[in-house]
Amino acid sequence: LSEPIRDSHVAVLAFFPVGAHAGPLLAVTRRLAAAAPSTIFSFFNTARSNASLFSDAEHPENIRVHDVADGVPEGTMLTGNPLEMLELFLEAAPRNFRREMAAAETEVGKKVTSMLTDAFFWFAADMAAEMKATWVAFWAGGANSLCAHLYTDLIRETIGVKDVRMEETLGFIPGMENYRVKDIPEEVVYEDLDSVFPKALYQMSLALPRASAVFISSFEELEPTLTHNLRSKLKRFLNIAPLTLFSSTSTLVRDPHGCFVWMEKRSPASVAYISFGTVMEPPPVELVAIAQGLESSKVPFVWSLKEKNMVHLPKGFLDRTREQGIVVPWAPQVELLKHEATGVNVTHCGWNSVLESVSAGVPMIGRPILADNRLNGRAVEVVWKVGMMMDNGVFTKEGFEKCLHQVLVHDDGKTMKANAKKLKEKLQEDVSKKGSSFENFKVLLDEIVKV
Ligand code: UDP
Repeated sequence: LSEPIRDSHVAVLAFFPVGAHAGPLLAVTRRLAAAAPSTIFSFFNTARSNASLFSDAEHPENIRVHDVADGVPEGTMLTGNPLEMLELFLEAAPRNFRREMAAAETEVGKKVTSMLTDAFFWFAADMAAEMKATWVAFWAGGANSLCAHLYTDLIRETIGVKDVRMEETLGFIPGMENYRVKDIPEEVVYEDLDSVFPKALYQMSLALPRASAVFISSFEELEPTLTHNLRSKLKRFLNIAPLTLFSSTSTLVRDPHGCFVWMEKRSPASVAYISFGTVMEPPPVELVAIAQGLESSKVPFVWSLKEKNMVHLPKGFLDRTREQGIVVPWAPQVELLKHEATGVNVTHCGWNSVLESVSAGVPMIGRPILADNRLNGRAVEVVWKVGMMMDNGVFTKEGFEKCLHQVLVHDDGKTMKANAKKLKEKLQEDVSKKGSSFENFKVLLDEIVKV
């Protein structure tokens, strides 16, 4: 069979080494590929990330998967620090992507007509210009963190880099009035913009206004003022309904550790779901505090804890809590949060986790760890009022017990839940045919799929 005639060729450049970036980008690629069956989408990502993303679900014929090198020079002994992987990847990324894109152009027999990339890839602005292709960028966080990055210069000028007043709010940026200096990602304020990662983020903030469109996984009603603000900073700014919620085309949910069977026996809104995302977890002393808080409060739980960290659990904890909860290395989070037995999401406030919780109407207990986590946590607690943060941002046994009580038993928790439900309803409206996500997706499709 000969190849059908293809109108455009989209290069999708995913970001792997840390964090949940590539999954949502693949989710939107799937939707675009289904809407534009005669367009080829060449998806570039590290071999390891591709292996996990494409392990079970089938992918459409017009998505072609390519592995790119992870940038780690041969023989390098990695320390396990996520920042190290990230920096090695970013430094080698321009040449690695360029090489693989050239190979894909030959394979497909068509030049790349547009580039859909993770926003971290600031170099895509020049690459796309050279290739006479359209550039569309995906920011894997929310409007709050994107805004903090785009206003890096103004923030640094206004609050200064030394003697920073941490409690001060960012009232000088429309939509950021409720966020404080201490919530901003370290890379924006405190760090030297010459080191690899802060520099890449700064270059990103300068490059993004050149993109034909920048989109995030969110919905407009969540941050209307910020949405308005970002529209003035960027050529196009689009909220596309939470991508991880629609990422699976299959109805089969992977649940190798039997979370659902365990959930079936629990009463409504009683279970604490605990996870800190894909990058880092709180230090061992805090993992112990979580375990102690769970034991003493007797709250049923599902705890997604990385296998390598299970050694930090107190001696005998798993035996003593056999009836009370389960600790698993991976959980089907999106579906568990939607389960009626789930009462609270204990989270690091990664963007996807926060959105998944909001769209399930589940209140949160937050323990921010890095990057945008503090901004998201602030939104959860103060802007949307759908949860609370741990005192001083750390787990102690007593502090955790108090939060569990507050959210699961106290009236405050009922208010948080009611607020989360309201947001859930707004999201449902947003993804309906009359909602803005629906329209925004059409705009995105038009930008990307051009002849
Ligand atoms: N996740 C999951 N099961 C787990 C742990 C995490 O499905 O056991 C998913 C979660 O649903 C979310 C993503 O991993 O979509 C984590 O993304 P987030 O943006 O919250 O945090 P990051 O990993 O980028 O810090």
